[in-house]
Amino acid sequence: RELPGDSRTDTMPREVLKACYTKVSPSADVENPKLVAWSDAVAELIDLDPQEFQRPDFPLFFSGASPLPGGLTYAQCYGGHQFGIWAGQLGDGRAITFGEVLNSHGERWELQLKGAGKTPYSRFADGLAVLRSSIREFLCSEAMNGLGIPTTRALCLVSTGKSVSRDMFYDGNSKDEPGAIVCRVAQSFLRFGSYQIHAFRGKESLDMVRILADYTIHHHFPHLEKMSKSNDISFGAGHKGSPGVDLTSNKYAAWAVEVAEGTASLVAKWQGVGFTHGVLNTDNMSILGLTIDYGPFGFLDAFDPNYTPNTTDLPGRRYCFANQPDICLWNIAQWTATLSSANLISKEEENYTLERYGIKFMDEYQSIMTKKLGLPKYNKQLINKLLNNMAVDKVDYTNFFRLLANIKADPNIPEDELLNPLKAVLLDMGKERKEAWISWLQTYIEELVSGGIPDEQRKAAMNSVNPKYVLRNYLCQTAIDAAEQGDFEEVMRLLRVMEKPFDEQLGKEKFARLPPAWAYRPGVCMLSCSS
Ligand code: AMP
Ligand code: MG
Ligand code: MG
Repeated sequence: RELPGDSRTDTMPREVLKACYTKVSPSADVENPKLVAWSDAVAELIDLDPQEFQRPDFPLFFSGASPLPGGLTYAQCYGGHQFGIWAGQLGDGRAITFGEVLNSHGERWELQLKGAGKTPYSRFADGLAVLRSSIREFLCSEAMNGLGIPTTRALCLVSTGKSVSRDMFYDGNSKDEPGAIVCRVAQSFLRFGSYQIHAFRGKESLDMVRILADYTIHHHFPHLEKMSKSNDISFGAGHKGSPGVDLTSNKYAAWAVEVAEGTASLVAKWQGVGFTHGVLNTDNMSILGLTIDYGPFGFLDAFDPNYTPNTTDLPGRRYCFANQPDICLWNIAQWTATLSSANLISKEEENYTLERYGIKFMDEYQSIMTKKLGLPKYNKQLINKLLNNMAVDKVDYTNFFRLLANIKADPNIPEDELLNPLKAVLLDMGKERKEAWISWLQTYIEELVSGGIPDEQRKAAMNSVNPKYVLRNYLCQTAIDAAEQGDFEEVMRLLRVMEKPFDEQLGKEKFARLPPAWAYRPGVCMLSCSS
């Protein structure tokens, strides 16, 4: 409902009322754009022949320098709670959607350029992205997918040949950095904040919440569409709720529960691999339960529940590793409050949705941790004791579980040999700590023995859920350093390793190494939002 005419394409910062998007064209300044990284797997998703990556005009289209035929470019309007505070309108300040591709399986995929220039949502910023953060987004999108974690995808990375100026958080100076544009791909980029913005604008905009909810259900949750908001309960085999909540009669309530459960299951998977998003504002929460908006994220190296990769989040650590499940519940609560203020769901349905989030998270998290340890059944005490030990001794989260799979379910192993399989991750420990680990392992082995699963079978099962390779920040940095010198081979090498993180890859041992000392300097292990 943006006004027709010139205002449709201008990028003057403004409040965009009663609209979910604004038509706008890419406008990033480019000079000799180059395709520097690409994903054949994502090309396949959208039925793009990987040969097309070789076209000389490919970088022109994917930097926005030439309009993509058939494209209908726009930027989305959304708002969000940033660090717990309502921030008003945010929107796609540097992301511009090309349109959607309908593939041969009937799936719709939205293609979006990130860093393609200003939009009405750019506020005070430039609409651009630097190479460093674009490499991180490109690689992590595909690394998460390799780990089996729902995420927006990344088709390709184009360098613009122009530089972008950024303020450096650690010395306060500004620095010119190479510019780049990532093409992101997802079935939808809608966020919690896409709905919130209309509710926060007051009564006149409330119907927009319903319009967007109907659109979302129609396109992305079509199995819920037949339910009415009336008392007709004849549709759907949907779940019955607690007293006063009948999910078969209100599609919005059924939808809310699916969104909450999708989010809960996503967060459980993050906790399982030690992923910390870094900026879990409600504008960075996907309605489809995808990991979205890769900024100052980080994978745990040494286990630390307080790990916070985002310098902007210090000293509060609102978005630290261990807070993610609670924070996402808080975010869901903001979103369900939006649905309830638009009279789409009742107070009971709202509460029920939050309850379901908690149940789903615990179910999934317990199941993931049980599989990570190769246990016959969930054992809360054993898992808590382990995480506690890991925190005390700063044990590498990824490599520990990979090595744990080598433990033999044999109660007769002498005490002084028990820790041998874990030597590479249990470093520099005094007598007392050694004893703590021996005692834990003895209980662990007892559990394994009671399960009776053959060692080799358990090892294979554990290795299929415990990755050997995760995109540690220092690995990203190595690829960034080379790329900034014009060498993109390392980006593509890392991509190939991270596409198969559970496989033992011959000759790729170095990508599974513990971080070197330089990995702990600011700008590598911690990043700011500025990108
Ligand atoms: P983020 O912290 O990346 O989730 O971004 C928060 C908001 O700032 C979103 O509305 C972004 O589109 C916007 N934003 C971030 N960086 C830029 C930029 N360089 N130019 C314009 N908008 C930006
Ligand atoms: Mg964002
Ligand atoms: Mg961002």
